[in-house]
Amino acid sequence: MAEPEFEQAYKELASTLESSTLFEKNPEYKKALEVVSIPERVIQFRVVWEDDSGKCQVNKGYRVQFNSALGPYKGGLRLHPTVNLSILKFLGFEQIFKNALTGLNMGGGKGGADFDPKGKSDNEIRKFCVAFMTELSKHIGADTDVPAGDINVGGREIGYMFGQYRRLRNQWEGVLTGKGLNWGGSLIRPEATGYGLVYYVEHMINYASGGKESFKGKKVAISGSGNVAQYAALKVIELGGTVVSLSDSKGSLIATEGKGFTPEDVSKIASLKLKRQALTAYEGHSYNYIEGARPWKHVGSVDVALPSATQNEVSQDEAEALIAAGCKFIAEGSNMGCTQEAIEAFEAHRKSSQGNAIWYAPGKAANAGGVAVSGLEMAQNSQRLSWTTEEVDAKLAGIMKDCFENCLQTAKEYITPAEGEFPSLVAGANVAGFKKVAAAMHDQGDWW
Ligand code: GLU
Repeated sequence: MAEPEFEQAYKELASTLESSTLFEKNPEYKKALEVVSIPERVIQFRVVWEDDSGKCQVNKGYRVQFNSALGPYKGGLRLHPTVNLSILKFLGFEQIFKNALTGLNMGGGKGGADFDPKGKSDNEIRKFCVAFMTELSKHIGADTDVPAGDINVGGREIGYMFGQYRRLRNQWEGVLTGKGLNWGGSLIRPEATGYGLVYYVEHMINYASGGKESFKGKKVAISGSGNVAQYAALKVIELGGTVVSLSDSKGSLIATEGKGFTPEDVSKIASLKLKRQALTAYEGHSYNYIEGARPWKHVGSVDVALPSATQNEVSQDEAEALIAAGCKFIAEGSNMGCTQEAIEAFEAHRKSSQGNAIWYAPGKAANAGGVAVSGLEMAQNSQRLSWTTEEVDAKLAGIMKDCFENCLQTAKEYITPAEGEFPSLVAGANVAGFKKVAAAMHDQGDWW
């Protein structure tokens, strides 16, 4: 069966490993690549639920338990009509290396269903989540597999799913992350992916400018309007940057007159999204709405681009438009936000325009803050303690710094950039994440 998204994610990893000196230094790791690309287990199941008119509805449910060498399988659940095995395998595969890059002990997995929450009532969402967990509960556990949210799965859905797990097992355990704050969730978890993304890019800006620049005064294009985009926008604004775009699957909001989004605008958008409404319902006076388009070709000159909606949301054309518009930093809040052709355009520019190049950071490094704070939520649940906002935020900032340094140093060691060239963060992330997982798998006899 064709698995285009999974093949794309595999090729991105394999090609950067091959272009590095990793296989020269460790030829035995080629076997590890072959083994790591097959999930340890794929669970597929039927989800039957009753809609508001009493009709029987059925969806396809999945959990891909990809790799458990570093810890329990860990990764989100996505509810979207496009969900299929290729998408979940790509997401699970990315998650293995992302989780390794957090420095915490978590394996990689991903799951979800082809259920479309758009147009569904709260009651239908609850019924679906309960039916989904009725089967999923047989395959997960705090030390086995710890799912969390992803597209269309936030605190409300995690709550319904957690309740059903607890009822079925007669057991309270840290089996899901992204829980409510009053029942075992971690402070900063909702903010973590967006904040972490901005912390990572702050290190890129700092490195590229020799410590002279920060987000202050930077124009930032963001796509998406969900959890990642909202908190990335709020952190950019807090650090003195201007957010010039947000979007959803129907179109983009582009700030006009050089006036960026305010925290109040972001919170209005957040409440629309909670009601599963489109951005067309947003009322603001200083923005243009561009129907059916992503922001990249419409934002004019920007310094930073943060794709934070979904996979393959930056095409080659759009990558070239961003480069032409003078964009200097691009980092994925979404998983595999850029097509392979877009990555190639960014990487070619990085190599050919020393010192003045665009610098690209892949999602598995730049958006690792979400799952990192999930790891911190697991630690708090095990200790039966709750850490303060300051503690969690400081740990998140430290993890993102280490993740950036790790990508940078690994790229310098295994790819050797030319004089004045920024090290390749995509190659650095892939080599660093892969090496850690491959070594753990070897120690445990998964390959030899
Ligand atoms: N879905 C998020 C991701 O792509 C979070 C996963 C988690 O917290 O387990 O990393």
